[in-house]
Amino acid sequence: MKAVVYDGPRQVTVKDVPDARIERSTDVLVRVTATNICGSDLHMYEGRTDFETGRWFGHENLGEVIEVGDGVDKVAVGDRVVLPFNVACGHCKNCERGLSNYCMTAQPVQEWAGAAYGFADMGPWAGGQAELLRVPWGDYNCLRLGEDADERSADYVMLADIFPTGYHATEMAGVSPGDQTVIYGAGPVGLMAALSATIRGASKVMVVDRHPDRLRLAESIGAIAIDDSKVDPVQAVLEQTMGLGADNGCECVGYQAHDPQGQEQPNDTLNKLVQSVRFTGRIGTVGVYVPQDPGASDELAKQGKIAFDYGMYWFKGQTMGSGQAPVKRYNRQLRDLIAAGKAEPSFIVSHQLPLDQAPEAYQHFDARDNGWTKVILKPGQ
Ligand code: NAD
Ligand code: ZN
Repeated sequence: MKAVVYDGPRQVTVKDVPDARIERSTDVLVRVTATNICGSDLHMYEGRTDFETGRWFGHENLGEVIEVGDGVDKVAVGDRVVLPFNVACGHCKNCERGLSNYCMTAQPVQEWAGAAYGFADMGPWAGGQAELLRVPWGDYNCLRLGEDADERSADYVMLADIFPTGYHATEMAGVSPGDQTVIYGAGPVGLMAALSATIRGASKVMVVDRHPDRLRLAESIGAIAIDDSKVDPVQAVLEQTMGLGADNGCECVGYQAHDPQGQEQPNDTLNKLVQSVRFTGRIGTVGVYVPQDPGASDELAKQGKIAFDYGMYWFKGQTMGSGQAPVKRYNRQLRDLIAAGKAEPSFIVSHQLPLDQAPEAYQHFDARDNGWTKVILKPGQ
């Protein structure tokens, strides 16, 4: 089968690799029809995490079931399914508590928590940026879709990760009807958090970024765009909230790479969030902070660390939630909102491309090139 193979920092090639196959009786084999490039892939693509060459990415996958193991009874050949990016067993201590993001069976290494397809340090599972995907514990890890699955795959594929992740950010932030909510980052995840805040009844959603094309998408769903290359975002939020600060906020940026052109990013969105959110407000952080960035210029950034103003956070009495999103906690309800025509996450999709065009798609998405907001790769096209 063909897969988008990692050859080293900022290099991927579409190559032939051994076919994915059923390995255990609880496996499901999926023919992948839609697989997204995610901002999380960029941590590995840019070489900031130890992703082995020869493996392939792909944790946002949707497709058709073509084979099931003998122990699978809730999923059948022909089913259209979307796969939560968290690989989980469904029966460990964490899975039983609904924390499929911290499954202890799919990720047996103690220092690392949580498992995913095609990811550094998140278990041995192969990615879905390929023609076929092996789904372990298939009964637990497949979400079945209805008859409109093929026609609306650009909406449903967002259930694998970023729609539930954006929703999780708003859940951790406690976004409630009438709230004024600020979101840092108008990448795919930030835009999904903005959509989620709207679904939860926020009266005002403010989205901070510096890319006009992404800010326009935020405006297209009724959010207020704040361009931090033109204004101080904290001041802009205070002006929008009668000087009080937002009721809650979401961090959807994560650790930003040192710029290969030499311009260092300060990685200070968490501090800006603390300043933008009112006293006792809540913050949900889903942006990923990586353990190392060898190419960065200062010592802290080399270790992937940031300088967090804990004193200000403590003084304001805020609370913060963090971590990978437990996709299974939300994806059925979000699927049903899509099916009912009440949510259309595909508004962020800029490109749907055959797998062969993955190398150039990675380049453009990594550079945040104008108009490259979210890419869906379509194996088999
Ligand atoms: P992205 O990199 O495309 O989006 C990040 C956006 O933040 C970009 O548009 C960028 O211009 C903007 N940005 C950079 N610095 C900023 C600043 N100082 N203020 C405001 N905006 C700034 O990626 P994405 O796909 O949207 O993902 C965002 C983050 O979420 C990544 O770190 C990704 O790894 C993470 N993520 C986490 C989970 C989870 O389960 N927790 C799941 C998916 C993605
Ligand atoms: Zn993702």
